[in-house]
Amino acid sequence: MIYSYSLSDDISVIKGVGAKKKTRLDQLDIFTVEDLLEHFPTRYRNKTSVVNSMRFTDGEDVLAEGILVSKKLKKLSYRKSVLELVMRDDGGLFYASFFNTPFLADKLETGSKYVVFGKVRFRNGLKLFTNPEINEAGSEKDKRGIIPVYPLTSGLTANDIIKWQLDALANTDIVDWLSEKLRDKRRICDLKSAYKNIHFPLSGEWYRVAMYRLVYDKLLTYQLAIRKNRILISDFSEDASIPDEDISPFIESLGFKLTEGQAAAISDIESDLKNKKPMNRLVQGDVGCGKTVVAEAAIYKVVKAGAQAAFMAPTEILARQHYKKLSSDMSKFGMNCGLLVGSLKQSEKQSVIRNLKEGKLDILVGTHALITDGVEFRNLALVITDEQHRFGVNQRKTLVNKGANNVLVMSATPIPRTLAATVFGDMDFSVIMTMPDDRKEIITRLYDPDSRKIAYKSAEEELSTGSQVYIVAPSIENEEDSGLASAEALFEEMRKSFSSYKVGLIHGRLDKIEKERVMSEFASGKIDVLVSTVVIEVGIDVPNASLIIIENAERFGLAQLHQLRGRVGRSSKQSYCCLICAGKSETALERMKVMVEMSSGFDISEADLRLRGAGDIMGTIQHGFMTGRFADLFRHTKILEKADEDAKEILKDESLVDIEELDRRLSELFVKDNSEIL
Ligand code: ADP
Ligand code: MG
Repeated sequence: MIYSYSLSDDISVIKGVGAKKKTRLDQLDIFTVEDLLEHFPTRYRNKTSVVNSMRFTDGEDVLAEGILVSKKLKKLSYRKSVLELVMRDDGGLFYASFFNTPFLADKLETGSKYVVFGKVRFRNGLKLFTNPEINEAGSEKDKRGIIPVYPLTSGLTANDIIKWQLDALANTDIVDWLSEKLRDKRRICDLKSAYKNIHFPLSGEWYRVAMYRLVYDKLLTYQLAIRKNRILISDFSEDASIPDEDISPFIESLGFKLTEGQAAAISDIESDLKNKKPMNRLVQGDVGCGKTVVAEAAIYKVVKAGAQAAFMAPTEILARQHYKKLSSDMSKFGMNCGLLVGSLKQSEKQSVIRNLKEGKLDILVGTHALITDGVEFRNLALVITDEQHRFGVNQRKTLVNKGANNVLVMSATPIPRTLAATVFGDMDFSVIMTMPDDRKEIITRLYDPDSRKIAYKSAEEELSTGSQVYIVAPSIENEEDSGLASAEALFEEMRKSFSSYKVGLIHGRLDKIEKERVMSEFASGKIDVLVSTVVIEVGIDVPNASLIIIENAERFGLAQLHQLRGRVGRSSKQSYCCLICAGKSETALERMKVMVEMSSGFDISEADLRLRGAGDIMGTIQHGFMTGRFADLFRHTKILEKADEDAKEILKDESLVDIEELDRRLSELFVKDNSEIL
């Protein structure tokens, strides 16, 4: 068999992916054929067999087959029309309406047999499909089977992705990086079968086999990275210690007293830095506990001792925020701070890079590009990464080459204690369990769409006391029939309802300069109401904001809601979170209840795991290592144990894997720069 594509080929090799579709795929983080194959379905639709109309269930997907009894095309306006069909099967009549597809009317013939696939709704005793798929029964297009449902973005259809997946599966040379020996030992399937069956499962059993292999793959890569990192650190023979400078001037400059957890974390870091062995520490603490100060204390110490520090954030918005904070907090001590992010002009970048090399800058803040680009430090001794979990092997190597031996990682992701040892086996741990004393618990309230006015009433109240407000929507613009709140529509609405206040809008499609302008105006209090998508999810710190309203809260994951809620409650003010939930399902309400009743990230993540069950790990496999959702993957403790055992074996016997492929995987692990998501 001669294959046309390889996994690392650019996505544009796939038939039908032109320039336009390619930009849409970029938004889904799909750049290569492999990314496409790793774009897993979130669920499947069952189109295997025809359901008699007597057996339809309200609100469910069904495949129906019937004779077209009549068709009627109604003009609604110049552009709008509706085509109404009446169909009949053995169970009786059912109906289908199609909006704005007048050409369909001529294609369908009364008296012929058609198959209809889609969600059926019961309205006034009638069984009605709206915009279903329709095809002539038995025709080429009448395909049966399990249909994958993919996360999409505007400009891409479900059929596009399905077509491309089929093309990729048929024509890609999928090299299995695991040897047959290893696969046999663990009785796992080959990679090609895994991809085939995760997209188009032949059976439930095959689906499970495929899932097992994919989870094992991720965990094995992860454990290999950890073990390699550990070796890298212990092989480090130079002295990484830093002269023990007194940090009390910095601590005294703060306008508050450190919490117990902060003080303990700082003292852990101080003793790490004294040690000849490089520091490799994870500081874990819930949103709002004050991790930034801990990072600053470490930076202070290192710079005081005459070395440089780098601070990396997952997004450009966050990098800029940290830059502002560090500049104002550290300049008091004569420490100079620089910013390096993608949207700077080339000349600005050059000047930062020059100053850094010459040692005129003590602290460099930026996104992860900071360590990959040709950035040279004069004397780098500490690297901090915020809201990111760890470094990959190659990044670690780059750091070592740049001379940065001491690494500090800050994360709000609750890591189950039982897993910490395996998952972070190469790191030391400081956990901050305390919140600043002056904090009041955020009051969370739940509304349905009918009572959302009440939530906005409280926005009015908060604004009148000089506080600021966030309003979050799941989508940027209105998509037809989605029924979802969109940031653009809310922005218009808010401009009308809060006409005496300044309302701002931020979302991922704005250019970086505009995003930066809106964010800094909100931070400085010029903007009172910020309408946003999830781009503000992580890390943003505007203590004067006291209310966050989240529209279509059912659309967000619990970890995400927790992060979003963490944008308020960052001062001594009483803060509020209003969840507007349009979902009526039991799980949706159950999840909202968790948010209303629980405030700790640990509790919420446990509830999350319980409510989602084992099924929903697709998103985790895809995005797992980049977002807060990654802890899920490690719930597969049995697979994790096996993967770790095998990782140990592989380091001794490299013939168990394809070494080149392994290197490629290791280099791609953890490195995706989240700033591009924004
Ligand atoms: P996170 O842990 O989520 O990164 P931040 O470091 O952004 O939290 O801190 C949240 C807010 O709390 C900031 O405005 C910070 O100045 C403030 N803060 C941090 N530590 C304390 C403290 N000990 N007492 C009072 N406020 C604090
Ligand atoms: Mg933070």
